[in-house]
Amino acid sequence: MLDFVYQALPARVIFQTGALARLPDEVQRLGARRVLVLTTPGQRPLGEKAAQALGPLAAGICSEAVMHVPSEAAQAARAQAEQLSADCCVAIGGGSTIGLGKAIALTSSLPILAVPTTYAGSEMTPIYGMTENGLKTTGRDLRVLPKTVLYDPLLTRDLPAALSAASGMNAMAHAVEALYAQDANPIVSLMAEEAIRSLARALPAIVADIHDDAARADALYGAWLAGACLGAVGMALHHKVCHTLGGSFNLPHAQTHAIMLPYTAHYNQTAAPKALQRVARALGGDTAAQAGALLMALNRSLGLPWSLAQIGMPEDGVGQAAKIATENPYYNPRPVLHDDVLAMLQRAWRGDSVA
Ligand code: NAD
Repeated sequence: MLDFVYQALPARVIFQTGALARLPDEVQRLGARRVLVLTTPGQRPLGEKAAQALGPLAAGICSEAVMHVPSEAAQAARAQAEQLSADCCVAIGGGSTIGLGKAIALTSSLPILAVPTTYAGSEMTPIYGMTENGLKTTGRDLRVLPKTVLYDPLLTRDLPAALSAASGMNAMAHAVEALYAQDANPIVSLMAEEAIRSLARALPAIVADIHDDAARADALYGAWLAGACLGAVGMALHHKVCHTLGGSFNLPHAQTHAIMLPYTAHYNQTAAPKALQRVARALGGDTAAQAGALLMALNRSLGLPWSLAQIGMPEDGVGQAAKIATENPYYNPRPVLHDDVLAMLQRAWRGDSVA
């Protein structure tokens, strides 16, 4: 049976080498005149460059974006937007910066123009997150979906190799889970396969030479597709586990996704054989049973860490993580059973092979 529901999301996407030059025109296209530019402390110079390009359209810069949108950072940015009478946010950076823009949009409905510089994919989703008292909450709201996205591969040129690899595998995780999502549909599955293929092709080339512009464009293209998958369909066990590990154990977001992906793919391989076979094929393999091992081999070839222990997960936290991840599970093709998830997390903590 080929039954499905497909809900398209409204967004204008411009993918072009040098797209940043189009920023003033695109801001004006949104009818905005007072732009608040958002970025991280480390990317402040890029924020300044964007503000300079905007000229009189720039009302101010907030370079206080940090991982997982702490509520204090959101409150401060909202206050700054209000004080400046901003009518638009330009979020230039990775998922943390775009997340800060979403926090502003959630309460003010200000339009966001996103200029992503990593492969995380937040720019294509109506999903927001915020952290208060160590607890991260997420939700979906169309007000936070960026109205316009400018993809400029030149802005990813200096993303370090290790961060590029981890961020690319974070994107790949969106695509893998989209293939077995509860609301999977043909168009999203096509995008997911293409995303996996482009990322698998581009990331090794980027690790070999971070200034390989063709590979940068290929990876950003894959990241766009993967972000569109994340925005379009629901995620499953993999994302639940990674949110738990990031939110409750403060593990680095992208690396956690990269390490866990072979294990969660392996967990689901018999329950979602067609989806995992598509993953394997996009990685140059043939059968569903190969998907986890192929993902692990790709991680290894990219020089990524391969165990949760390596990125600071305490061994005595694994039991708690299994408990949290299975308490209110997302839909998953294979039942999310505490003992099975615990065993998977123990293997991931040690970095065992999945073959
Ligand atoms: P990030 O935005 O925290 O960026 C990581 C670091 O890299 C930062 O210090 C940043 O300044 C720096 N950086 C970014 N781009 C760079 C570049 N081109 N060159 C040099 N340095 C650069 O990391 P991320 O992985 O992009 O985003 C992670 C956050 O995004 C998490 O909080 C995650 O939950 C969220 N996220 C949300 C969604 C969603 O749909 N809501 C999707 C994906 C990720």
